[in-house]
Amino acid sequence: MLVAAQPHNDMAIREIQMLFVVAFIITLVVGDFASTFFYHVPQHLWFTLHLRTHHDRRRSYFDHAVLSKDPGVLMDGFLGALPYLVVAALAAHLSLPGALAGLAFGQLHVWWRHTTDLGWRTPEGVRRVLRPLGIVLPEDHDGHHRNPDIEFGDIFRFYDAPARALLAKLGPTSRRVRNASRRSHKEAPARA
Ligand SMILES: [Zn+2]
Ligand SMILES: [Zn+2]
Repeated sequence: MLVAAQPHNDMAIREIQMLFVVAFIITLVVGDFASTFFYHVPQHLWFTLHLRTHHDRRRSYFDHAVLSKDPGVLMDGFLGALPYLVVAALAAHLSLPGALAGLAFGQLHVWWRHTTDLGWRTPEGVRRVLRPLGIVLPEDHDGHHRNPDIEFGDIFRFYDAPARALLAKLGPTSRRVRNASRRSHKEAPARA
């Protein structure tokens, strides 16, 4: 009886492990997709919260991404995390531990990707392992803080190109363009 149950048990364990990995990957890959295209890109186009907080150049970004308790900063962090939470809630139907591990990895990655500001550099070995996986290194995310028009994707760099394409397509509707045209309309009569 015990002998007959063994292969069945092994299969069940393998299935649990597989579902763990699938839920983990879904939480991160789909979560980053949703956060990038439903929060981060729209914020850069039409809103001010993320630009005022995450891209505040007067403060160290390690401080405002990791340590700050400022309500605006926390709100930006929460809204950016919300898509991951929604995706994790769905992935939890496959594996709750996998979805939770995905969220935990995502949070660790938030802290890690802001460490360039502290002078940390990614060791060559880590870089070599993570590059082919398309994972955002702190040095990549540092690029987004230096130039907010590049290096989209919180965790995965493969979202950068489509995010920039979308930004370019929707650029004419952005706050930046609307404000500029409003200013030039106001200035026009003065010049005439
Ligand atoms: Zn950042
Ligand atoms: Zn940004």
